[in-house]
This record gives sequence, structure tokens and C-alpha cells, in this order.
Amino acid sequence: MYRESQPIKLWYFGPMFRYERPQAGRQRQFHQIGVEMFGVQDASADAECILSATEFLNSLGLNDLTVEINSLGCDKCRGEYKEQLKKVIAPFLDKLCDDCKSRFEKNPLRILDCKNETCTKLFEEYDLRNSLSGVTLCDECASHYKSLKEYLNALNIKYVENTFLVRGLDYYTKTVFEIKSNNLGSQNAVCGGGRYDGLVETLGGPKTPAVGWAMGVERLNALIPVRNVNLIDFFIVSNNPIETLKLNANLRRHGFSVDFDYNFRKFAKQLEKAAKTAKYAIILGEDELNNNYYTVKNLETSTQEKMSFDELLNIKK
Ligand SMILES: [Zn+2]
Ligand SMILES: [Zn+2]
Repeated sequence: MYRESQPIKLWYFGPMFRYERPQAGRQRQFHQIGVEMFGVQDASADAECILSATEFLNSLGLNDLTVEINSLGCDKCRGEYKEQLKKVIAPFLDKLCDDCKSRFEKNPLRILDCKNETCTKLFEEYDLRNSLSGVTLCDECASHYKSLKEYLNALNIKYVENTFLVRGLDYYTKTVFEIKSNNLGSQNAVCGGGRYDGLVETLGGPKTPAVGWAMGVERLNALIPVRNVNLIDFFIVSNNPIETLKLNANLRRHGFSVDFDYNFRKFAKQLEKAAKTAKYAIILGEDELNNNYYTVKNLETSTQEKMSFDELLNIKK
């Protein structure tokens, strides 16, 4: 795709497979939705990327979001930070979890991300947060990060800077971000992403800047507010099976969604069911049948009016 005109913007949705041991909320097969943008170095791409995530989450009804951002810099600025980090951690290295012990040489930054209770307690005890300054960014990385913040401000995206945010993967450069949802009381990370300017090259391609994010669909699902199932248009309330079946068929032919009570119980019971499932109840009682009209009750406003069949057809869906 590097031969095509840049940038390349992609999105995907599909099943993913996790190699590690499954645990609660981390299934072996899960689903992920994500975006990737290749070919843009400017922080405007990072900002657009974050915006697309917050807008998408908003559209799902997740409005109480916290966007955390950080810059990990490039290899050049990160090297010093790794050394600083190792110095701070070395005194209590043997007390860290096994994962962190092996991270110490391979990728010490990931230690900051450890969710193991042993480690998080140690970090507090040793006041790790205050002993670390965060990555000291080189001029280029610093100005990239500054632009990102300007763009986010301009887009009215509220963010929190978190110098501890490193994301779990080694390939991130400069921007990393995580979006947390405060739905259902507690904070849950629903989206993670960042910039990975070195990844394409690592995989054998030409030098290609890139930025993107991913969201776990199962986790999103658990947080999305339960919505009313779509209401049908009409619920027929009647004690006359033949007229009900006829009206039901007629309305369906005109494209309406219709239902009725197959047991033809008392009207009060039928109206209860109607109120839960439909926008309008059509009452078809003795008087209506004898005088050839329908009593239509708007179940949202509880207002009622008499209508002919043609008027029924003109009702706003
Ligand atoms: Zn740098
Ligand atoms: Zn650990």
C-alpha cells in the first residue's frame, strides 16, 4: 500500500485470538474494532484519530469519557528514560512480579503498566511516580506533543496527561493514549492507541509514520447502556380475533409493524403490553366496530383520538 497515494486510512472489525492464558474478561477469542492511518507525521493525524474514537464512543451512548495521553518520544529520547527507570527500579527488582523481572532488561517501560498488585503496591511504597520525570522529549518529539495538545484543545477534547501511560507494546513512539469510560460507576479502559512510526520499517517496509487505535467489542458491549428495543408501530387492542387479524394484515401490507394479544385478554392487560412494545395502541372495541372507526392512543403522550383507516395510514411512524 505504500505505492498508493498517502495517507492510507483503514478500519477493521473482526475476531482476534489471544495466545496468553484466558482470564475473566479476557477471552481467548474476542472481537476488536480499530483504525489505522499510515503516512502522516503531523500530530493532526493523532488528534483526528482520538476524535474518531471519542465520537464513536459517544455515538454508542458512552459520554462520560476520560482521555489520557502521553508521549513516549522516539528511540533517541526514550533511551535515557529507560536508564533512569532502571536505576529507580533496581533496588527492589527482586520483589517485582516475574513478568516485570523479565521486562527489566527487555522493555523496562512496560513495568510502569503492570497491573499486578504486588507491583502496584511496591510502586506506591517506593513513591515511583514522584521519582520519575517521564520521558524527556527531544525537540522534535516535544513539538509534536505540544501540537497534539493544541489540536485536542481546539477540538474541545478534554484530556489528562499521564506520564505513566506506556501501553503494553514495544512499537509505540511519541503519542500514546487510552480512553476510559466512567459508565457503570467504575473507570474502564475502552480504547487504546497511539503512534507507531517504526512498525512498518520493523516489518520490512519503508519508513512510514502511523497512528491508530483499537477497542475490544465485548468490553464495549458490557458498558453500553441497555436501550429499549425498537418499538413497533401499532399494537391492536381488541376482543375480536377476526377483525384483529384483518386489521393486522392490512396495516402490515402498508409497511407498518403490528402486533396484538393472541389470547385476547382484558383490555387493561392488552394496553399494558401495548405500552411496553408499541408507539400506538389501536383500540378496536364494540363501538369502534359498529361505527367503523379506530380509537388510536399515542402511548408516549397518552393522548387518544378517533381515526378512519386512511387517517391511520397517515400516522407518523
Ligand atoms: Zn524524540
Ligand atoms: Zn509486575
